[in-house]
Amino acid sequence: MPNPAILTVDDDPAVSRAVARDIRRRYGDRYRVVRADSAEAALEALRELKLRGEQVAVLIADYRMPQMNGIEFLEAAMDLFPSARRVLLTAYADTDAAINAINVVDLDHYLLKPWHPPEEKLYPVLDSLLEAWLATGATPTSDLRVVGHRWSAPSFAARDFLARNLVPFRWVLADEPEGAELLAAAGTSANDVPLIVTADGKSLVQPTEADLAAHVGLATTPAADFYDLVVVGAGPAGLGAAVYGASEGLRTVLIERRATGGQAGQSSRIENYLGFPDGVSGAQLTDRARRQALRFGAELLSAREVVALEDGGVARVLRFADGSTVAAHTVVLATGVSYRMLTAPGLAELTGRGCFYGSVASEAPNCSGEDVYIVGGANSAGQAAVHFSRYARRVHLLIRGADLTRSMSSYLIEQIARIDTIEVHPTTEVVGGAGGKHLEQLTLRDTRTGDVRNVDTSWLFVFIGAEPCTDWLDGAVARDRRGFVLTGPDLTRGGRRPPGWTLPRDPYHLESSMPGVFAAGDVRAESVKRVASAVGEGAMAVSLVHRYLEAQ
Ligand SMILES: Cc1cc2nc3c(=O)[nH]c(=O)nc-3n(C[C@H](O)[C@H](O)[C@H](O)COP(=O)(O)OP(=O)(O)OC[C@H]3O[C@@H](n4cnc5c(N)ncnc54)[C@H](O)[C@@H]3O)c2cc1C
Repeated sequence: MPNPAILTVDDDPAVSRAVARDIRRRYGDRYRVVRADSAEAALEALRELKLRGEQVAVLIADYRMPQMNGIEFLEAAMDLFPSARRVLLTAYADTDAAINAINVVDLDHYLLKPWHPPEEKLYPVLDSLLEAWLATGATPTSDLRVVGHRWSAPSFAARDFLARNLVPFRWVLADEPEGAELLAAAGTSANDVPLIVTADGKSLVQPTEADLAAHVGLATTPAADFYDLVVVGAGPAGLGAAVYGASEGLRTVLIERRATGGQAGQSSRIENYLGFPDGVSGAQLTDRARRQALRFGAELLSAREVVALEDGGVARVLRFADGSTVAAHTVVLATGVSYRMLTAPGLAELTGRGCFYGSVASEAPNCSGEDVYIVGGANSAGQAAVHFSRYARRVHLLIRGADLTRSMSSYLIEQIARIDTIEVHPTTEVVGGAGGKHLEQLTLRDTRTGDVRNVDTSWLFVFIGAEPCTDWLDGAVARDRRGFVLTGPDLTRGGRRPPGWTLPRDPYHLESSMPGVFAAGDVRAESVKRVASAVGEGAMAVSLVHRYLEAQ
C-alpha cells in the first residue's frame, strides 16, 4: 500500500514548491507529498486518493487563494478525510482569519510564513500532528482491503460498516488485476464478494458484521460479566451517557449493533450543535465522542445487537442474539430510531445497489458527474442534498409537500436555493424502481396532477421519517403506541404508577417502567429529535443513575 499523503496547496508556485521540498526532505521516506497549485486541483487530488482507498495524514493550505480560500478548502477536504490533521499557512496580517478558522474547520495549527528554519518552526508542528494522526488508528500499516463489485449490496454493506466505524480500508474492485489476484490467493471467486483481506494476511469471505468487527480490531465481547452501567446504542445519547458515566467513575460498557455515531454519524454537516458555529460533520463529532468515551475508560462493543432486557432482581440483564448476556446495576436505552423503507415496487431488491437509506457519505464521490435523487423534506434530506451537490451533476430533491417551509430549517432552505445544481420537485413521490445489477430507473408521480414519468438514475437516497426499533423491549418496559419508550411523568399520568412498579417513589424523569432502566435520546417518547438534546439526555440519565444507585 502506498505511503499516506501529506497534501500541500498554495497558489504561489514558489511557496508551493518550497513547502513541499521541506516536507519531503524530512518525511519523504514515510509519507508521499502531494502538491497542488489551487484549491480545486487539491480537492480533485483528494477525491482521487479517496477513490483509490489511500490515506491522507495532513492537509496544509495557504489562506489566501483565489476562488476558494484555505479555510473553505479545508472545510471541503474534511468531508473526504475527516481524520486528516489541518494546517493553515498564513501571513502575519491574516492571523485573525486563522484564529477564526480554529472553529470553522477545527484547525489544528496555523503556520506563519516564512517557516524557516523548518527544524524549529515546521517539523515540530508536523511531528506532533503526525503523531496525533497515527493515534487515530489510521496507521499506514493498516493494510485492510475489501474486494468486491461496485454494485454488490454485501460489498457495499461491508464498506459502509468499516467507513461508519472509522476503520481505514482500501477498496479493490474484483475485476481489477489486484482484486483477481487476491480472490485467487484466497481460493474464492468473484461470485463470493466481499472478500476482506486483513493487515496480517487473513482473508474472510462474506463475513458477518460481528466477524468483520472482530477481525479489524473492534471489541465485540464484554471484558467483564457485570457493570455499573450498560448503555445500549452508541448514537449521541449513548455516547453522551458513556462519556459522563465513565468520567464519573461508573464501570460502563457501551453496546452498538452497527456503527458509533448513530444517525448523527450519517450527517454530512450538523449546523446547530452548540459550540460549532460553522457546523461539524457527523463523522468528526463521532470520532471525537468515541475517543473521549474510550479515554475515560468506557468499553465499547461493536456489531453486537441487544435482543432482550430482563429484570434479574438487583441486576438488569441484557441478552445478545447469540444467547450470551451482560448484566449491570443500571441500563440506559439509547437506541434511537431507524429510517422507514420506501415501499414502491422494485426498490426492496435494489437496496444497497443504488437505493440507500440515510446519507451514505462514503458513496458521495462515486456519484461524480451523475444525477442523484433524494427523497425527503426534512433537514436530513436537505443536508444530504447540499453534500451530494459537491459531487453530482444534478441533485433532485423529491418532496411530498408543496414546498420545504413546513419541514426544513430556513438556513438549509436558503443554502439549497443558492445552489444551482439542486432542483426541488414538490408534490412528487417515488412509485417504482427498476434495474438489473443496480438501480437504473425511477418512476415518479406528481401527487397533484397524477402525472407519472420515468427518470434514468443509479442513485437514490431516502430520508422519510423514522421509527424506534423497540419490539425487543416488549413486555420489559412500557412503550407508547408507536414503540417509543415511556419515561418519568409520562408513566404516571392519572396519578397511578406503572403496572409492576414496586418502589415507594415515582419513576425518575428519564426512568422507564423498569426501575434502574433509563431511556435517552430519540427512542424516548416525546423527546426532541436533535443531537444536542440526545447528548443532554445521555448526561442527565447518568445523574439519575447515580441517584438510583445511592438509594439502593
Ligand atoms: C442525516 C441526518 C442528519 C441530521 N442532522 C441533524 C442536525 O443537523 N441537527 C440535529 O440536532 N439533529 C440532526 N439529526 C437528528 C439527530 O442525528 C438525532 O436526533 C440523534 O442522532 C439522536 O441520537 P440518539 O443517540 O438518540 O439515536 P441514534 O442517533 O439513532 O443512535 C442510536 C444507536 O443505537 C443503535 N442501536 C439501535 N438498536 C440497538 C440494539 N438493539 N442493540 C445495539 N445497538 C442498537 C443504532 O445502531 C444507533 O447507532 C440528523 C439525523 C440524520 C439521520
